[in-house]
Amino acid sequence: MSILSRPEFHNEEAAYAYVEARVWANGRVCPHCGEADRTSKMGGKSTRIGTYKCYGCRKPFTVKIGTIFEASHVPMNLWLQAIYLMCASKKGISSNQLHRTLGVTLKTAWFMSHRIREAMRDDTLGAFGAGGGTVEVDETFIGREPGKPVRRGVGHKMKVLTLVDRATGRAKSMVVDDLKIATLLPILKANIAAEATVYTDEAMQYDNLGKHFAVHDSVNHGAEEYVRGAVTTNTVEGYFSIFKRGMKGVYQHCGKKHLHRYAAEFAFRYSNRVALDISDVMRADIALQSIVGKRLTYAQ
Ligand SMILES: [Zn+2]
Repeated sequence: MSILSRPEFHNEEAAYAYVEARVWANGRVCPHCGEADRTSKMGGKSTRIGTYKCYGCRKPFTVKIGTIFEASHVPMNLWLQAIYLMCASKKGISSNQLHRTLGVTLKTAWFMSHRIREAMRDDTLGAFGAGGGTVEVDETFIGREPGKPVRRGVGHKMKVLTLVDRATGRAKSMVVDDLKIATLLPILKANIAAEATVYTDEAMQYDNLGKHFAVHDSVNHGAEEYVRGAVTTNTVEGYFSIFKRGMKGVYQHCGKKHLHRYAAEFAFRYSNRVALDISDVMRADIALQSIVGKRLTYAQ
């Protein structure tokens, strides 16, 4: 059976049941007051799908409250279609494509995809290289920094810093304003364990990383050295090649205001990729489990 034939993609009631089973995996909780025991499903023809009554605070609630779905009128089964498509497309899927595939307006597709990127944002990865593992660190340049004239070189481009933990296969990717060590070091120290081995290229800003991490070594790309024993940044460069193909081929235009969301999207798919035995369906479920507390309002 095609994955796209599943009932949760076509039937709103099935879609609610699917989301509830994941968001309330440890039991249904009233999002208003935290009541866990005294809640019940509301019936009746005029009751909206998925509405429960809380006997603690006496308010009705649905699984959408406090999640990226809150205040959205898009049917839940279309939300699940959008999450699946974004999670299953290695280089991403444009708002235009979602608009045409789902039959929602372009504006709605745009907001849906940004909310789904919020769900993909993972702030709880823990330290990379914990237990003495190896972390590759590198940066890439993309688009144009607002207000900077286009010149030769990469100074006018936006900068994305990415870390890959070789043991877990996970990536963390973030937008940085510049590549000075004063900017990068706090980020690296917050995300990489002190006992880690860190590999970078020969860029000057990484010169003194050995003072902060157990081991730091680099390959000299300027001298065409890409691998020296275990020392290489080829893994993180492989990550960047997917990121850049997606950003150029699928998303085409992205301002700095939103770049961090795209960075989170690519890192999410990479950290939950097929090579780590995570299927498209599992990846979509992982995103779905992260919808709580990620509400994105239209003003943001
Ligand atoms: Zn309540």
